[in-house]
Amino acid sequence: MAGKYKHFETSVIHEGYDAKDMLDSLTTPLFQTSTFTFETAEQGERRFAGDEAGFIYSRLGNPTVSVLEERIAALENGERGLAFGSGMAAVSAVLVALTKAHDHIVCSSGLYGCTFGLLAMMEEKYHITHDFSGMESTEKLRAIIKPETACIYVETPINPTMKLIDLEMVANVAKEFNVPVVVDNTFSSPYLQRPLDLGCDVVIHSATKYIGGHGDVVAGLAVGKKEFLDSVQMTTQKDIGGIISPFDAWLLIRGLKTLPIRLDRHCDNAEKIFVKLRNHPKVANVYYPDDEAHPDYLIREKQMKRGGGVISFEINGTKQDAQALLNALSFLKIAVSLGDAETLIEHPATMTHAVIPETSRLKMGITDQLIRLSVGLEAWEDIWHDLEQALDKM
Ligand SMILES: *Cc1c(COP(=O)(O)O)cnc(C)c1O
Repeated sequence: MAGKYKHFETSVIHEGYDAKDMLDSLTTPLFQTSTFTFETAEQGERRFAGDEAGFIYSRLGNPTVSVLEERIAALENGERGLAFGSGMAAVSAVLVALTKAHDHIVCSSGLYGCTFGLLAMMEEKYHITHDFSGMESTEKLRAIIKPETACIYVETPINPTMKLIDLEMVANVAKEFNVPVVVDNTFSSPYLQRPLDLGCDVVIHSATKYIGGHGDVVAGLAVGKKEFLDSVQMTTQKDIGGIISPFDAWLLIRGLKTLPIRLDRHCDNAEKIFVKLRNHPKVANVYYPDDEAHPDYLIREKQMKRGGGVISFEINGTKQDAQALLNALSFLKIAVSLGDAETLIEHPATMTHAVIPETSRLKMGITDQLIRLSVGLEAWEDIWHDLEQALDKM
């Protein structure tokens, strides 16, 4: 671990916070303030000049937010963390900071829908082009990198098909070309996968998902080298302004304390549900990284501690059958998002991935029969009971 503590389970609770600095408060106080007062005009001058440490205005830094940023930096084993108002605020701040007009970005073949939208916007407005790659081999990756490639942007596991990309391989190829690698680590959280340890340069999270973990906050995080994150803070974060609210940072600090415990339970439950789904006659295919039959199982063993809490599966049937399955559930919730205590189920073709043209969508493996399940923290027997009765009805 990069921080003060040896173990992840201790860092999630203590890193970046010392009660002595905060009137002995056990938990991190919530500094719900927009601005900070200066004792004198000269002190204000020194703070703005950077000659004196201290807070100025909450878009430029806030004590509650700072605790969260230090904590996530330690958990991802990075030098510095930055918090944002949403996962997309983090993605856009990092990508805009890394690129200029006419640059090029190499992306994994599957991307979060709005990241896909952001890339399309960057192309239209600033002629920043992008190419998708399965990144299956060093040769394939080398072949797609251009002189104007400004970064490689990777999601793994890829949502919702659960294909994996070998991050160490990508980082090694990227070094040959001196190109930074950015990884959206939302699906794994730092408990299951730490891309910076594998040689990647920047990690991004939609903290809305496993980091918050309770479905009550939308937020984002980025971690990497201090020099780069300082530059993001002083440019795209400060001037575009997608900052996190102190209250949302406070909720994330609270959520993070149970991250390892929650993730282990998500994984335990997902492993059980995976086996049940695989053996159900109405299920055609199940996609889960912790499956010896998964084509990328060796990558899972190499870079992920466990398989995570998300499973996708294809039913034997039609789009209408997939919708009927969702409608027949009694307590499992039909909702996008993932990583919450509640099990959430969605239909990617008509929900999270509906904006992708049908031919590209099918090429990505997102059929009308595909269903994505974010396995929650309920008793796995109850989750399965509800799924099974809905499958049987279908
Ligand atoms: C949800 C999500 C995002 C976007 O995060 P928001 O917090 O909704 O802005 C980005 N990447 C992945 C993989 C996600 O699941």
